[in-house]
Amino acid sequence: MKYIFVSGGVISGIGKGIATASIALLLKSAGFKVAPLKMDPYLNVDAGTMNPLEHGEVFVLDDGAETDQDLGHYERFLGESLNKSNIATQGDIYLSVIQRERNLEYEGKCVEVVAHVTEEIIRRIQDAGRSKNADIVLVEIGGTTGEYQNLLFLEANRLLKLKKHDDVLHIHVTYLPIPSFLGEMKSKPAQMSVRDLHSVGIQPDIILARAEKPLDETRIKKLAFFTGLETEDVISAPDVRNVYEVPVNFDEGGLTNRILEKLKLKRKHKDLKTWRVFLKKMQSAQKQVKIAIVGKYFSTGDFTLVDSYISVIEALKHAAFTLGFKPEIAWIDSGKLLKDINQLKTYQGIIVPGGFGSRDIEGKIEAIKYCRENKIPYFGLCYGMQLSVVEYARNVLGWKGANTTEVDSDTKYPVIHIMSDQQKKLLKKDYGGTMRLGAWECKLKAGSLVRKLYGTFGKLSAGKSRISERHRHRYEFNNDFLEKFLSNGLTISGTSPDGKLVEIIELKNHPFFVGTQFHPELKSRPLEPHPLFLGFVKAAAKIDPY
Ligand code: GLN
Repeated sequence: MKYIFVSGGVISGIGKGIATASIALLLKSAGFKVAPLKMDPYLNVDAGTMNPLEHGEVFVLDDGAETDQDLGHYERFLGESLNKSNIATQGDIYLSVIQRERNLEYEGKCVEVVAHVTEEIIRRIQDAGRSKNADIVLVEIGGTTGEYQNLLFLEANRLLKLKKHDDVLHIHVTYLPIPSFLGEMKSKPAQMSVRDLHSVGIQPDIILARAEKPLDETRIKKLAFFTGLETEDVISAPDVRNVYEVPVNFDEGGLTNRILEKLKLKRKHKDLKTWRVFLKKMQSAQKQVKIAIVGKYFSTGDFTLVDSYISVIEALKHAAFTLGFKPEIAWIDSGKLLKDINQLKTYQGIIVPGGFGSRDIEGKIEAIKYCRENKIPYFGLCYGMQLSVVEYARNVLGWKGANTTEVDSDTKYPVIHIMSDQQKKLLKKDYGGTMRLGAWECKLKAGSLVRKLYGTFGKLSAGKSRISERHRHRYEFNNDFLEKFLSNGLTISGTSPDGKLVEIIELKNHPFFVGTQFHPELKSRPLEPHPLFLGFVKAAAKIDPY
């Protein structure tokens, strides 16, 4: 087994996750089995307990692991589903060590950060490879070099390199700023980030030099000289319009060949063809389709934070590009929507994505009402589905004050409520990893719009009705009200296989009004756009009927 570590320098947010996902795709397309592994420095056991404004989106895997959004990049680029062996947080690693200590598994020894925690880190790395029988484990080290948080991961890297020598590579993703008052690209911060690596005993083998523009010969030579590398080891990685261009740019910059050479691996084949077909579609898409996402996790200070809904955005892109459209996505803060609902007029489709709590839900409900009444394509994802049930109860069934008990526990019409097993967990403050999580089967109703879409785009063969989608929620449709909804025109088009849980709702006589209790965006991939997103974008762009 070979090991590649990826670290980041200078600033966060330079695309280390995209770089790692791209390397994974390039190595896969060269014929190798790759197991990516994200190592996050924080002490939360998983990402599930963090606020989206704090952490960005929580990406849920089939096995229910609540992970970092980089796992989403890996799955989208690799076109594979991952599992909990592909993620480890420092909290989770410490927890294993401490639990082992409590079980006397260290046989009375003094348990220490080095070597017991580093040993556990190395064990996780090897497990990730073993669980997939991988040729290469690709470890992305969260955080930035030079900070305390990720030192143990770097130490584990150093120790593994001491044991496995040429089977271990280190790729450093760094950044060269172009300060506007200078107008010149500066390499010093990148030199310093490599010096930080040197100070913990790591010599990078390859540098991915991120910058607004491509690096010129002078910068490449300078960076190579100061970091002890050949010029071929410094790969220019300028900004791109779309992240899906990155693997092809890396490949053309010589990255794949350089990695294989250094790891003494022979390319088995080269297959980026299907990826390039998608890129072509993406680059040639001309016509726009305007979609608004109505949510609340948007702002951080004066800046807009789109990280909270990254999979929704990517799923929209996959579907739109595949259909030959360029998605223009707008963020509408549900807190400000009530003042001017007419701002929705410019959009061809509206999404209310997942969410929690009571803040700003009335704006979302108004947006849903607007879509229902004006026949604007609407797609509700998890909370977006639950709130469309609330909207229907209030405005079609006339149940004033209908609500989800998450917002109003005393409502006369608790059309969305908490399941009793979930209630018990909340009472015990058992919050971590206890939602309804991961992939669950869903039975589709024959003749429904969603059944048609999964059939046409999802290749669900005739006569079949089961799909599997990823969940992350505590509340559910309240079946006490089911009959009333059904007799008043709401279609339940998907349920759990035993029929007890409502998973999908839709409306007839509407171009597209669908709400899913699950998160379809988590399974959309560029080469396999999600059937429901294809249906939604088709309806928004008004292209042929289904
Ligand atoms: N807050 C809702 C629940 O817990 C919806 C969660 C979500 O949108 N992911 O059921």
